[in-house]
Amino acid sequence: MSLLEVDTLSVRYPGVVAVDGLTFSIDRGESLGLVGESGSGKTQTAMAIMGLLPADAEVEGDIRVDGRSLLSLDDAALNRVRALEISMVFQDPMQALNPFVRIGDQIARILLEHRLAAGDDASGKVVDMLDRVGLPDPERQYRAYPHQLSGGMRQRAMIAAALITDPALLIADEPTTALDVTVQAQILDLLEELRDDTALLLITHDLGVVAGHCERMLVLDRGRKLEEGPTRTLFVSPDHPHTRTMIDAAPRLGARQPPDPRMSETILIADQVDVIYPEDQLQAVHSTDLILKAGETLALVGESGSGKSSLVRAILGLVTPAAGDVEFDGIALPPDVRRRKPADLKRMSMVFQDPVGSLNPQMRVRDIVGEPIGSSRHSSVSATLARVGLDDSFSDRYPHQLSGGQAQRVAIARAIITQPRVLVCDEAVAALDGTVRQQIIDLLMSIQRETGLAIIFIAHDLAIVEGLSHRVMVMYLGRPVEIATARDLFSRPGHPYTRALVDAVPEPDPLSNKYSFVRGETPSPIAPPLGCAFHPRCEHAIARCRVELPKPREVDNRTIACHRYEELRTEVESSPN
Ligand code: SF4
Repeated sequence: MSLLEVDTLSVRYPGVVAVDGLTFSIDRGESLGLVGESGSGKTQTAMAIMGLLPADAEVEGDIRVDGRSLLSLDDAALNRVRALEISMVFQDPMQALNPFVRIGDQIARILLEHRLAAGDDASGKVVDMLDRVGLPDPERQYRAYPHQLSGGMRQRAMIAAALITDPALLIADEPTTALDVTVQAQILDLLEELRDDTALLLITHDLGVVAGHCERMLVLDRGRKLEEGPTRTLFVSPDHPHTRTMIDAAPRLGARQPPDPRMSETILIADQVDVIYPEDQLQAVHSTDLILKAGETLALVGESGSGKSSLVRAILGLVTPAAGDVEFDGIALPPDVRRRKPADLKRMSMVFQDPVGSLNPQMRVRDIVGEPIGSSRHSSVSATLARVGLDDSFSDRYPHQLSGGQAQRVAIARAIITQPRVLVCDEAVAALDGTVRQQIIDLLMSIQRETGLAIIFIAHDLAIVEGLSHRVMVMYLGRPVEIATARDLFSRPGHPYTRALVDAVPEPDPLSNKYSFVRGETPSPIAPPLGCAFHPRCEHAIARCRVELPKPREVDNRTIACHRYEELRTEVESSPN
């Protein structure tokens, strides 16, 4: 008998079938990846197993743990199963942690409620568990409230809460989607290390995560199982074409964008830009230069707090830089967007992360696209919609009648209708599913080939960046630490932080299974460390790094800000791998 048996499970809502006759099982100690794009029924399946579906859900079929049907249990018995046998880690720990109760007390309460420990014994067990999940100074974290911890630390606390009862099954629903890439790698490794013989149901849209962490995988599409099998087999020879498409669309390191001949012409220069937010008492960008050429895609990469969005906002005039200049075609632009000429405004456009949210919900598609040129009837509206792959039937729709991918096409149409020379894409594909994401990237690249558009592409996903960018600028705590061509940067990352980012990319290849990671999280930009800001996380830091800020230098065809670049380069070159 398997530990968990899901038997012809269906979950229905009025007018919607969320899960349709799903059957699968998990044995003790096994790890199963449940993969699928948004709306495929992954989370609904997890919620059904946990008994957490809303009241209007109609559930059919059976869910058994150790042969016992969960659907027939009363609330008290189900609570006990949930606490002792199955635990869950959610994408957003703030949803699951009580903001008003200290972390340690919340976890100890689980032990007390189920009489697994009492008094000091319970607190001692919690401190031990906080230590095991890698929270520094666990006694102090015991007394912290959730909002006092960083995102990564909260996810560690959530894992501690889930594992404190030593459950037989752990369900992790997109446990790292909200985290920075280096922290994602740490958390996935932690789950792997701590679960011992706890079975794992890992729910994710990210095939790289499944490839590295699950023995078996099950592919869901619109509530139905498409196929299931050993992860390696499915990656090599999937039976279903949709699985193949998902695997092919998963971002991976290696694809390269060929250089464009127009890239000899510099169109945009940002010189020594500082961005300061006095209300938050922080400097988001420090003395940063940026150069962009026609037909070029420059990727700006870095985790939260790296200053990449603030830098482009300063370039676009949406925040006024505290220092520095921005030049377009050799002419200085006024720092504030309200003082820029209409012709200047048309030359730079922007596409945002949230496709539906960035469009005015009360306007029809044709009005949204035509607004920047002051006419929705103009023939260039239909021509631009056609250019982004949308026929005329879309012009009368409202944003809520569009899918995520269609909404992003509309946002791109609106951004290119003025024939800009520069397009800033701020995490523009981060919210899209794999196959749709690839279509949008292909669209951007084809527009670039046709028009010589220069693109600044802000992203945290390095695998996507490698595929579409010519040059990459890596930022850390408000400063560029490395700038190089995509080819040089990915084949030989020079800065220890760049190397950490490249190593943290989960590869959608079960055989690669490369997983090394940097420790800790990005410090707060309010109080950046002295010297090299990366030194508290850098395994190569020496005394000099703690006191002296490394200045960007030109070496080996790259700009690099690391005191030890030459020595570390020699070490990498002479290492056997
Ligand atoms: Fe590491 Fe020092 Fe280089 Fe900073 S300057 S990245 S701490 S070796």
